[in-house]
Amino acid sequence: MAPPSGGYVEALTLLRDRPLVVLTGAGLSTDSGIPDYRGPSAPARTPMTYQEFVSGPAAQQRYWARSHLGWGRMGGAEPNDGHRAVARLGADLVITQNVDGLHERAGTPRLVALHGRIAEVVCLGCRETSDRAALQERLAELNPGYAERHAAAPVRPDGDVELEDTAEFVVPDCAGCGGVLKPDVVFFGENVPAERVARCYAAVEALTERDGALLVAGSSLTVMSGLRFVRRAARAGTPVVIVNRGSTRGDELASYRVHAGCSEFLTALAG
Ligand SMILES: [Zn+2]
Repeated sequence: MAPPSGGYVEALTLLRDRPLVVLTGAGLSTDSGIPDYRGPSAPARTPMTYQEFVSGPAAQQRYWARSHLGWGRMGGAEPNDGHRAVARLGADLVITQNVDGLHERAGTPRLVALHGRIAEVVCLGCRETSDRAALQERLAELNPGYAERHAAAPVRPDGDVELEDTAEFVVPDCAGCGGVLKPDVVFFGENVPAERVARCYAAVEALTERDGALLVAGSSLTVMSGLRFVRRAARAGTPVVIVNRGSTRGDELASYRVHAGCSEFLTALAG
């Protein structure tokens, strides 16, 4: 079944005054200057996998050394009109695949950060979470002069740094249990925590009886962690609207496919 072509106005009409679950991806944050690594003009990039991160101290040194140098650059991003519109929608639930924290800063109620937040750190031993900004101070204390010595290392717009020799970098352990510290984000090769997924499924399933709709904004639905909610909604007969520049893996399941900018469409919807 091919989706209807166009449908910008029809999609707005379908979504207005209806209970909504909103699923957002990287396309929503590009207007905030955070690059979309799956978008059409994305640079080639291979993020560290979970398996690599837990393989031993060398991988953890490489991760944290780069993160230490790049951390300051991420702080400059601000929520854009799309984030602000989502916060005004009154959605049953907003599910985001983004780890940048911009929905939180826009004041979005009822939010699930599906892949975690880059601003938090988790201990793989005791599962205690802590503040990434506080860890930055510990990294600086343990590695005096490191940032200055590597000031010339190229930094990508998302805060990742091109840096090869990281063998001298000192990585702190968990202050509580001595375990390995990891950014509290879901790496490639790692599963989204089950209770997080269950909360999202419950909100999507509740749309059926409430005559609601699922709105996808700025995600190409490349990974199953987001696509499964679209499949669940479509199977239950809940209408799905996808707003994204470029094709997505959920296109054939959508009632409307809107090829427009997220900020523009969401602002028109939220009023
Ligand atoms: Zn611990």
